[in-house]
Amino acid sequence: MQKKENIISLPVIKKIQLIHDGELSAKENLNLFLKRIKEKNEEINAFISIEEEKAKEQAEKIDEELNKGIKRPLSGIVVGIKSCISVKDYLVSAASKTLENYYGTYDAEVVKKLKENGAIIIGMLNMDEFACGSSGETSYFGPTKNPRDTKLIPGGSSSGSAAAVADNLVDFALGTDTGGSIRNPCSHCGVYGIKPSYGRVSRYGLLDLAMSLDQIGPITKSIEDLAYILKIIAGKSEKDQMTADIRVKDYLSELKKPFNGVFGVINGLENFIVDEEIKKVYLDTIEKIKKTQKTKEIELKYLDLAIATYYPIVYVEFFSATRKYDGRKYGYKIEETAGEEVLRRIEGGKLLTKAEFSGKYYRKALVARKLIANEFKRVFEQVDAIVLPTTPKKPHKIGEKLSPLEMYAYDLFTIPANLAGICAGVVPIKETLGLQVYANAFKEEELFKAMKVVEKLNL
Ligand code: GLN
Repeated sequence: MQKKENIISLPVIKKIQLIHDGELSAKENLNLFLKRIKEKNEEINAFISIEEEKAKEQAEKIDEELNKGIKRPLSGIVVGIKSCISVKDYLVSAASKTLENYYGTYDAEVVKKLKENGAIIIGMLNMDEFACGSSGETSYFGPTKNPRDTKLIPGGSSSGSAAAVADNLVDFALGTDTGGSIRNPCSHCGVYGIKPSYGRVSRYGLLDLAMSLDQIGPITKSIEDLAYILKIIAGKSEKDQMTADIRVKDYLSELKKPFNGVFGVINGLENFIVDEEIKKVYLDTIEKIKKTQKTKEIELKYLDLAIATYYPIVYVEFFSATRKYDGRKYGYKIEETAGEEVLRRIEGGKLLTKAEFSGKYYRKALVARKLIANEFKRVFEQVDAIVLPTTPKKPHKIGEKLSPLEMYAYDLFTIPANLAGICAGVVPIKETLGLQVYANAFKEEELFKAMKVVEKLNL
Protein backbone atom coordinates (compact mmCIF):
# COMPACT_ATOMS: atom_id res chain seq x y z
CA MET A 1 0.00 0.00 0.00
CA GLN A 2 1.21 3.50 -0.80
CA LYS A 3 2.19 5.99 1.87
CA LYS A 4 -0.85 7.91 3.16
CA GLU A 5 0.62 11.32 2.18
CA ASN A 6 0.53 10.37 -1.48
CA ILE A 7 -2.90 8.87 -1.27
CA ILE A 8 -4.51 12.24 -0.73
CA SER A 9 -3.47 13.50 -4.16
CA LEU A 10 -4.51 10.43 -6.16
CA PRO A 11 -6.99 11.05 -8.94
CA VAL A 12 -10.47 9.63 -8.34
CA ILE A 13 -10.20 6.65 -10.66
CA LYS A 14 -7.06 5.44 -8.85
CA LYS A 15 -8.38 6.14 -5.39
CA ILE A 16 -11.67 4.37 -5.97
CA GLN A 17 -9.70 1.20 -6.69
CA LEU A 18 -8.03 1.41 -3.28
CA ILE A 19 -11.40 1.94 -1.64
CA HIS A 20 -13.07 -0.87 -3.56
CA ASP A 21 -10.14 -3.17 -2.75
CA GLY A 22 -10.55 -2.45 0.96
CA GLU A 23 -7.17 -0.74 1.24
CA LEU A 24 -8.63 2.63 2.22
CA SER A 25 -11.90 3.22 4.06
CA ALA A 26 -14.26 6.12 3.40
CA LYS A 27 -13.54 7.37 6.90
CA GLU A 28 -9.78 7.24 6.40
CA ASN A 29 -10.12 9.11 3.13
CA LEU A 30 -12.34 11.75 4.73
CA ASN A 31 -9.96 12.17 7.67
CA LEU A 32 -7.02 12.81 5.36
CA PHE A 33 -8.91 15.72 3.84
CA LEU A 34 -10.27 17.06 7.13
CA LYS A 35 -6.73 17.20 8.48
CA ARG A 36 -5.38 18.94 5.41
CA ILE A 37 -8.27 21.42 5.33
CA LYS A 38 -7.48 22.34 8.95
CA GLU A 39 -3.88 23.01 7.99
CA LYS A 40 -4.51 24.88 4.76
CA ASN A 41 -7.97 26.40 4.49
CA GLU A 42 -7.37 29.36 6.77
CA GLU A 43 -4.84 30.69 4.33
CA ILE A 44 -6.38 29.61 0.99
CA ASN A 45 -10.02 30.29 1.99
CA ALA A 46 -11.31 27.74 -0.49
CA PHE A 47 -14.19 26.68 1.76
CA ILE A 48 -17.01 28.83 3.08
CA SER A 49 -18.28 26.01 5.27
CA ILE A 50 -17.00 22.58 6.26
CA GLU A 51 -19.56 20.05 7.42
CA GLU A 52 -17.39 17.69 9.43
CA GLU A 53 -20.18 15.90 11.29
CA LYS A 54 -22.45 15.43 8.29
CA ALA A 55 -19.51 14.18 6.22
CA LYS A 56 -18.54 11.73 8.96
CA GLU A 57 -22.07 10.34 9.05
CA GLN A 58 -21.96 9.82 5.28
CA ALA A 59 -18.55 8.13 5.53
CA GLU A 60 -19.78 5.74 8.19
CA LYS A 61 -22.71 4.68 6.03
CA ILE A 62 -20.43 4.10 3.06
CA ASP A 63 -18.05 2.03 5.14
CA GLU A 64 -20.93 -0.12 6.36
CA GLU A 65 -21.93 -0.65 2.74
CA LEU A 66 -18.38 -1.47 1.70
CA ASN A 67 -18.12 -4.00 4.51
CA LYS A 68 -21.17 -5.70 3.04
CA GLY A 69 -19.52 -5.71 -0.39
CA ILE A 70 -21.61 -2.88 -1.84
CA LYS A 71 -19.34 -0.84 -4.10
CA ARG A 72 -20.51 2.34 -5.80
CA PRO A 73 -18.65 4.34 -8.48
CA LEU A 74 -17.80 7.08 -5.95
CA SER A 75 -17.86 5.19 -2.63
CA GLY A 76 -16.00 7.30 -0.09
CA ILE A 77 -14.78 9.91 -2.60
CA VAL A 78 -14.67 13.38 -0.99
CA VAL A 79 -16.28 16.24 -2.89
CA GLY A 80 -16.62 19.99 -2.41
CA ILE A 81 -19.57 21.86 -3.92
CA LYS A 82 -19.63 25.44 -5.20
CA SER A 83 -21.83 27.50 -2.90
CA CYS A 84 -24.46 28.24 -5.57
CA ILE A 85 -25.49 24.58 -5.92
CA SER A 86 -28.12 23.43 -3.48
CA VAL A 87 -27.17 20.78 -0.93
CA LYS A 88 -29.78 19.86 1.65
CA ASP A 89 -28.91 21.29 5.07
CA TYR A 90 -25.64 22.85 3.85
CA LEU A 91 -24.97 26.58 3.64
CA VAL A 92 -25.95 27.67 0.12
CA SER A 93 -24.80 31.27 0.36
CA ALA A 94 -23.68 31.97 -3.22
CA ALA A 95 -20.89 33.74 -1.29
CA SER A 96 -23.26 36.63 -0.59
CA LYS A 97 -24.38 38.36 2.57
CA THR A 98 -27.85 38.13 1.01
CA LEU A 99 -27.90 34.37 1.71
CA GLU A 100 -25.40 34.20 4.56
CA ASN A 101 -27.86 32.16 6.66
CA TYR A 102 -29.57 30.19 3.93
CA TYR A 103 -29.38 26.41 4.18
CA GLY A 104 -30.41 24.26 1.22
CA THR A 105 -33.83 22.65 1.55
CA TYR A 106 -33.18 20.00 -1.12
CA ASP A 107 -30.37 18.43 -3.13
CA ALA A 108 -29.62 19.72 -6.60
CA GLU A 109 -29.90 16.94 -9.14
CA VAL A 110 -26.12 16.71 -9.53
CA VAL A 111 -25.73 16.43 -5.76
CA LYS A 112 -28.38 13.75 -5.60
CA LYS A 113 -26.49 11.79 -8.24
CA LEU A 114 -23.18 12.17 -6.43
CA LYS A 115 -24.71 10.98 -3.17
CA GLU A 116 -26.44 8.03 -4.82
CA ASN A 117 -23.07 7.03 -6.21
CA GLY A 118 -21.43 7.06 -2.78
CA ALA A 119 -19.69 10.44 -2.70
CA ILE A 120 -19.18 12.31 0.58
CA ILE A 121 -20.02 16.03 0.53
CA ILE A 122 -17.45 17.69 2.76
CA GLY A 123 -18.52 21.32 2.44
CA MET A 124 -19.36 24.37 0.39
CA LEU A 125 -16.75 26.18 -1.65
CA ASN A 126 -15.95 29.84 -2.03
CA MET A 127 -16.77 31.75 -5.23
CA ASP A 128 -17.37 35.21 -6.61
CA GLU A 129 -20.62 36.53 -5.22
CA PHE A 130 -23.53 34.97 -7.19
CA ALA A 131 -20.92 33.72 -9.69
CA CYS A 132 -20.38 37.26 -10.99
CA GLY A 133 -16.68 37.58 -11.59
CA SER A 134 -13.46 36.17 -12.93
CA SER A 135 -11.06 36.58 -10.04
CA GLY A 136 -12.46 34.98 -6.87
CA GLU A 137 -12.18 38.31 -5.06
CA THR A 138 -15.83 39.37 -4.73
CA SER A 139 -16.98 36.84 -2.13
CA TYR A 140 -18.62 38.24 0.99
CA PHE A 141 -16.49 35.65 2.83
CA GLY A 142 -13.23 37.10 1.56
CA PRO A 143 -11.07 36.28 -1.45
CA THR A 144 -9.75 32.80 -2.20
CA LYS A 145 -5.99 32.57 -2.69
CA ASN A 146 -4.25 30.69 -5.45
CA PRO A 147 -2.52 27.65 -3.89
CA ARG A 148 0.20 27.78 -6.58
CA ASP A 149 1.16 31.28 -5.43
CA THR A 150 -0.87 32.81 -2.63
CA LYS A 151 -0.24 36.38 -3.80
CA LEU A 152 -2.23 35.66 -6.93
CA ILE A 153 -5.95 35.39 -7.63
CA PRO A 154 -7.14 31.81 -8.21
CA GLY A 155 -9.54 32.97 -10.94
CA GLY A 156 -13.29 32.83 -10.79
CA SER A 157 -16.01 32.52 -10.27
CA SER A 158 -15.47 28.87 -9.18
CA SER A 159 -12.44 30.03 -7.19
CA GLY A 160 -12.81 27.73 -4.19
CA SER A 161 -13.55 24.72 -6.40
CA ALA A 162 -10.34 25.05 -8.41
CA ALA A 163 -8.22 26.05 -5.42
CA ALA A 164 -9.52 23.11 -3.33
CA VAL A 165 -8.62 20.63 -6.08
CA ALA A 166 -5.22 22.23 -6.69
CA ASP A 167 -4.40 22.17 -2.99
CA ASN A 168 -5.64 18.59 -2.41
CA LEU A 169 -8.43 19.63 -0.07
CA VAL A 170 -10.92 17.39 -1.93
CA ASP A 171 -10.87 14.50 -4.42
CA PHE A 172 -12.79 16.68 -6.86
CA ALA A 173 -15.18 19.62 -6.89
CA LEU A 174 -18.21 20.88 -8.76
CA GLY A 175 -18.15 24.32 -10.30
CA THR A 176 -20.44 26.27 -12.57
CA ASP A 177 -19.68 28.03 -15.83
CA THR A 178 -21.73 30.79 -17.44
CA GLY A 179 -18.94 32.51 -19.33
CA GLY A 180 -15.82 30.73 -18.14
CA SER A 181 -16.18 30.24 -14.41
CA ILE A 182 -14.97 26.64 -14.43
CA ARG A 183 -12.27 27.08 -17.04
CA ASN A 184 -10.73 30.37 -15.93
CA PRO A 185 -9.88 29.20 -12.36
CA CYS A 186 -8.77 25.77 -13.66
CA SER A 187 -6.26 27.53 -15.87
CA HIS A 188 -5.07 29.85 -13.09
CA CYS A 189 -4.75 27.02 -10.53
CA GLY A 190 -3.37 24.34 -12.84
CA VAL A 191 -6.18 21.78 -12.67
CA TYR A 192 -8.60 20.13 -15.11
CA GLY A 193 -12.17 21.20 -15.77
CA ILE A 194 -14.97 20.93 -18.27
CA LYS A 195 -17.92 23.08 -19.15
CA PRO A 196 -20.28 20.52 -20.63
CA SER A 197 -22.52 21.30 -23.60
CA TYR A 198 -25.61 23.30 -22.65
CA GLY A 199 -28.25 20.76 -21.66
CA ARG A 200 -25.81 17.95 -20.86
CA VAL A 201 -26.06 18.34 -17.07
CA SER A 202 -29.18 19.21 -15.10
CA ARG A 203 -29.30 22.71 -13.66
CA TYR A 204 -32.01 21.77 -11.19
CA GLY A 205 -30.93 23.18 -7.84
CA LEU A 206 -28.49 25.72 -9.26
CA LEU A 207 -28.90 29.33 -8.15
CA ASP A 208 -28.68 30.73 -11.62
CA LEU A 209 -26.59 33.57 -12.90
CA ALA A 210 -27.92 33.39 -16.48
CA MET A 211 -30.09 30.37 -17.07
CA SER A 212 -29.60 30.21 -20.83
CA LEU A 213 -25.82 29.93 -20.38
CA ASP A 214 -25.13 28.21 -17.03
CA GLN A 215 -23.77 24.68 -16.82
CA ILE A 216 -22.46 22.68 -13.88
CA GLY A 217 -19.26 20.71 -14.39
CA PRO A 218 -16.50 18.84 -12.55
CA ILE A 219 -13.03 20.14 -11.62
CA THR A 220 -10.46 17.39 -11.16
CA LYS A 221 -6.84 16.22 -11.10
CA SER A 222 -6.99 14.39 -14.46
CA ILE A 223 -8.85 14.11 -17.77
CA GLU A 224 -9.85 10.56 -16.86
CA ASP A 225 -11.55 11.88 -13.73
CA LEU A 226 -13.48 14.45 -15.77
CA ALA A 227 -14.70 11.66 -18.05
CA TYR A 228 -15.63 9.40 -15.15
CA ILE A 229 -17.52 12.04 -13.20
CA LEU A 230 -19.29 13.67 -16.13
CA LYS A 231 -20.83 10.30 -17.00
CA ILE A 232 -22.28 10.16 -13.49
CA ILE A 233 -23.76 13.66 -13.38
CA ALA A 234 -24.91 14.02 -17.01
CA GLY A 235 -28.17 13.08 -18.68
CA LYS A 236 -31.76 13.95 -19.41
CA SER A 237 -33.68 15.17 -16.41
CA GLU A 238 -37.37 15.61 -15.77
CA LYS A 239 -36.54 18.56 -13.55
CA ASP A 240 -34.62 20.57 -16.11
CA GLN A 241 -36.54 20.91 -19.35
CA MET A 242 -33.45 22.18 -21.12
CA THR A 243 -31.53 18.93 -20.64
CA ALA A 244 -31.08 16.99 -23.87
CA ASP A 245 -32.24 13.48 -24.51
CA ILE A 246 -28.95 12.50 -26.09
CA ARG A 247 -27.18 9.37 -24.93
CA VAL A 248 -24.43 9.85 -22.36
CA LYS A 249 -21.54 7.69 -23.50
CA ASP A 250 -19.10 5.86 -21.29
CA TYR A 251 -16.59 8.67 -21.60
CA LEU A 252 -13.82 6.84 -19.76
CA SER A 253 -13.75 3.92 -22.20
CA GLU A 254 -14.13 6.37 -25.10
CA LEU A 255 -11.01 8.10 -23.82
CA LYS A 256 -8.98 4.93 -24.33
CA LYS A 257 -9.53 5.27 -28.07
CA PRO A 258 -7.23 7.60 -30.06
CA PHE A 259 -8.41 10.97 -31.34
CA ASN A 260 -8.88 10.55 -35.09
CA GLY A 261 -10.44 13.91 -35.83
CA VAL A 262 -9.18 17.17 -37.28
CA PHE A 263 -7.87 20.02 -35.15
CA GLY A 264 -8.94 23.46 -36.27
CA VAL A 265 -6.31 26.18 -36.08
CA ILE A 266 -7.91 29.60 -35.86
CA ASN A 267 -6.17 32.11 -38.10
CA GLY A 268 -4.74 35.01 -36.15
CA LEU A 269 -6.05 33.96 -32.75
CA GLU A 270 -2.66 34.71 -31.19
CA ASN A 271 -3.25 38.41 -31.85
CA PHE A 272 -5.88 38.43 -29.10
CA ILE A 273 -3.45 37.07 -26.48
CA VAL A 274 -2.03 39.75 -24.20
CA ASP A 275 0.46 37.71 -22.19
CA GLU A 276 3.67 36.64 -23.96
CA GLU A 277 4.00 33.37 -22.06
CA ILE A 278 0.46 32.31 -22.93
CA LYS A 279 1.09 33.24 -26.55
CA LYS A 280 4.25 31.11 -26.60
CA VAL A 281 2.60 28.08 -24.97
CA TYR A 282 -0.33 28.38 -27.36
CA LEU A 283 1.82 28.74 -30.50
CA ASP A 284 4.24 25.97 -29.45
CA THR A 285 1.31 23.61 -28.89
CA ILE A 286 -0.20 24.51 -32.25
CA GLU A 287 3.16 23.75 -33.90
CA LYS A 288 3.30 20.34 -32.24
CA ILE A 289 -0.29 19.62 -33.22
CA LYS A 290 0.46 20.54 -36.83
CA LYS A 291 3.37 18.08 -36.83
CA THR A 292 1.48 15.15 -35.34
CA GLN A 293 -2.23 15.58 -36.08
CA LYS A 294 -4.60 16.30 -38.91
CA THR A 295 -5.19 20.05 -38.91
CA LYS A 296 -7.11 22.64 -40.87
CA GLU A 297 -6.74 26.40 -40.82
CA ILE A 298 -10.06 28.05 -40.07
CA GLU A 299 -11.53 31.51 -39.84
CA LEU A 300 -13.53 32.24 -36.74
CA LYS A 301 -15.62 35.35 -37.18
CA TYR A 302 -17.27 37.44 -34.46
CA LEU A 303 -14.80 36.65 -31.65
CA ASP A 304 -14.56 40.41 -31.17
CA LEU A 305 -18.31 40.50 -30.46
CA ALA A 306 -18.28 37.86 -27.73
CA ILE A 307 -17.92 40.04 -24.63
CA ALA A 308 -20.33 42.72 -25.87
CA THR A 309 -22.86 39.99 -26.65
CA TYR A 310 -22.51 38.08 -23.41
CA TYR A 311 -22.81 40.82 -20.82
CA PRO A 312 -26.21 42.29 -21.83
CA ILE A 313 -27.65 38.76 -21.81
CA VAL A 314 -26.16 38.03 -18.40
CA TYR A 315 -27.31 41.38 -16.97
CA VAL A 316 -30.90 40.83 -18.11
CA GLU A 317 -31.16 37.19 -17.06
CA PHE A 318 -29.40 37.86 -13.75
CA PHE A 319 -31.68 40.79 -12.99
CA SER A 320 -34.66 38.52 -13.52
CA ALA A 321 -33.12 35.68 -11.47
CA THR A 322 -32.47 37.98 -8.51
CA ARG A 323 -36.09 39.19 -8.19
CA LYS A 324 -36.72 36.31 -5.78
CA TYR A 325 -34.18 37.69 -3.29
CA ASP A 326 -36.58 40.32 -2.04
CA GLY A 327 -35.97 39.59 1.63
CA ARG A 328 -39.19 37.61 2.11
CA LYS A 329 -38.53 34.01 1.25
CA TYR A 330 -34.76 33.70 1.12
CA GLY A 331 -32.31 35.74 3.18
CA TYR A 332 -32.08 39.51 2.88
CA LYS A 333 -33.07 41.87 0.13
CA ILE A 334 -30.32 41.64 -2.47
CA GLU A 335 -30.22 45.38 -3.22
CA GLU A 336 -29.44 46.06 0.45
CA THR A 337 -26.78 43.44 0.94
CA ALA A 338 -24.93 42.59 -2.26
CA GLY A 339 -21.52 43.82 -3.34
CA GLU A 340 -20.56 46.22 -6.08
CA GLU A 341 -20.41 43.85 -9.08
CA VAL A 342 -23.74 42.19 -8.28
CA LEU A 343 -25.41 45.57 -7.88
CA ARG A 344 -23.90 46.81 -11.13
CA ARG A 345 -25.51 43.86 -12.93
CA ILE A 346 -28.87 44.30 -11.23
CA GLU A 347 -28.94 48.00 -12.10
CA GLY A 348 -27.72 47.31 -15.64
CA GLY A 349 -30.21 44.50 -16.10
CA LYS A 350 -33.06 46.68 -14.89
CA LEU A 351 -32.12 49.39 -17.35
CA LEU A 352 -31.83 47.00 -20.28
CA THR A 353 -35.13 45.35 -19.41
CA LYS A 354 -37.05 48.60 -19.65
CA ALA A 355 -39.14 48.52 -22.79
CA GLU A 356 -37.43 51.41 -24.52
CA PHE A 357 -34.06 49.70 -24.28
CA SER A 358 -34.94 46.10 -24.86
CA GLY A 359 -34.98 46.21 -28.63
CA LYS A 360 -31.83 48.23 -28.70
CA TYR A 361 -29.54 46.08 -26.58
CA TYR A 362 -30.95 42.78 -25.44
CA ARG A 363 -32.47 41.77 -28.74
CA LYS A 364 -29.36 42.87 -30.56
CA ALA A 365 -27.35 40.66 -28.23
CA LEU A 366 -29.59 37.72 -29.06
CA VAL A 367 -29.03 38.31 -32.77
CA ALA A 368 -25.27 38.42 -32.24
CA ARG A 369 -25.48 35.27 -30.13
CA LYS A 370 -27.15 33.47 -33.01
CA LEU A 371 -24.42 34.65 -35.39
CA ILE A 372 -21.76 33.28 -33.08
CA ALA A 373 -23.59 29.97 -32.60
CA ASN A 374 -23.99 29.60 -36.37
CA GLU A 375 -20.32 30.38 -36.87
CA PHE A 376 -19.39 27.46 -34.63
CA LYS A 377 -21.84 25.23 -36.48
CA ARG A 378 -20.02 26.09 -39.68
CA VAL A 379 -16.60 25.52 -38.11
CA PHE A 380 -17.53 22.16 -36.62
CA GLU A 381 -18.64 20.93 -40.01
CA GLN A 382 -14.95 21.16 -40.95
CA VAL A 383 -13.08 20.23 -37.78
CA ASP A 384 -13.62 18.22 -34.58
CA ALA A 385 -11.69 20.18 -31.96
CA ILE A 386 -10.12 23.60 -31.57
CA VAL A 387 -7.28 24.59 -29.24
CA LEU A 388 -7.42 28.04 -27.64
CA PRO A 389 -5.86 29.83 -24.70
CA THR A 390 -8.13 29.95 -21.66
CA THR A 391 -7.52 33.58 -20.74
CA PRO A 392 -5.68 36.37 -22.56
CA LYS A 393 -3.73 37.19 -19.37
CA LYS A 394 -2.15 35.33 -16.46
CA PRO A 395 -3.63 35.78 -12.95
CA HIS A 396 -3.09 39.20 -11.39
CA LYS A 397 -2.17 39.92 -7.80
CA ILE A 398 -4.99 39.79 -5.28
CA GLY A 399 -6.29 43.30 -4.62
CA GLU A 400 -4.94 44.83 -7.84
CA LYS A 401 -7.53 47.30 -9.08
CA LEU A 402 -9.08 46.44 -12.43
CA SER A 403 -11.91 48.30 -14.14
CA PRO A 404 -15.04 46.22 -14.86
CA LEU A 405 -14.10 46.15 -18.54
CA GLU A 406 -10.59 44.92 -17.78
CA MET A 407 -12.11 42.19 -15.61
CA TYR A 408 -14.61 41.24 -18.32
CA ALA A 409 -11.73 40.96 -20.81
CA TYR A 410 -10.55 37.79 -19.04
CA ASP A 411 -13.57 36.02 -20.53
CA LEU A 412 -12.79 36.58 -24.21
CA PHE A 413 -11.81 32.99 -25.01
CA THR A 414 -14.26 31.26 -22.69
CA ILE A 415 -17.54 33.09 -23.40
CA PRO A 416 -17.96 31.89 -27.02
CA ALA A 417 -18.44 28.29 -25.86
CA ASN A 418 -21.34 29.32 -23.62
CA LEU A 419 -22.94 31.49 -26.28
CA ALA A 420 -22.75 28.60 -28.76
CA GLY A 421 -23.77 25.92 -26.23
CA ILE A 422 -20.79 23.72 -27.12
CA CYS A 423 -18.45 21.91 -24.71
CA ALA A 424 -15.00 23.09 -23.64
CA GLY A 425 -12.31 21.85 -21.29
CA VAL A 426 -9.02 22.98 -19.77
CA VAL A 427 -5.71 21.12 -19.70
CA PRO A 428 -3.14 22.57 -17.30
CA ILE A 429 0.21 23.16 -18.99
CA LYS A 430 2.08 25.19 -16.39
CA GLU A 431 1.32 25.89 -12.74
CA THR A 432 -0.92 28.86 -13.51
CA LEU A 433 -1.60 28.41 -17.21
CA GLY A 434 -3.92 25.98 -18.92
CA LEU A 435 -4.91 25.62 -22.56
CA GLN A 436 -8.47 25.23 -23.62
CA VAL A 437 -10.08 22.81 -26.08
CA TYR A 438 -13.47 23.26 -27.73
CA ALA A 439 -15.58 20.52 -29.30
CA ASN A 440 -19.05 20.52 -30.81
CA ALA A 441 -22.21 20.28 -28.73
CA PHE A 442 -22.70 16.83 -27.17
CA LYS A 443 -19.34 15.63 -28.44
CA GLU A 444 -17.77 15.43 -25.00
CA GLU A 445 -16.06 12.15 -25.93
CA GLU A 446 -14.23 13.94 -28.76
CA LEU A 447 -13.37 16.77 -26.40
CA PHE A 448 -11.76 14.44 -23.87
CA LYS A 449 -9.75 12.65 -26.54
CA ALA A 450 -8.54 15.96 -28.00
CA MET A 451 -7.63 17.18 -24.50
CA LYS A 452 -5.56 14.02 -24.10
CA VAL A 453 -3.64 14.90 -27.26
CA VAL A 454 -2.90 18.38 -25.92
CA GLU A 455 -1.82 16.93 -22.58
CA LYS A 456 0.52 14.36 -24.15
CA LEU A 457 2.12 16.89 -26.49
CA ASN A 458 3.02 19.06 -23.52
CA LEU A 459 4.37 16.34 -21.22
N1 GLN B 1 -16.64 36.11 -15.58
C1 GLN B 1 -17.91 35.88 -16.16
C2 GLN B 1 -18.95 36.76 -15.50
O1 GLN B 1 -18.59 37.46 -14.63
C3 GLN B 1 -18.28 34.44 -16.04
C4 GLN B 1 -18.98 34.08 -14.80
C5 GLN B 1 -19.38 32.64 -14.76
O2 GLN B 1 -19.06 31.88 -15.65
N2 GLN B 1 -20.16 32.31 -13.75
O3 GLN B 1 -20.09 36.75 -15.84
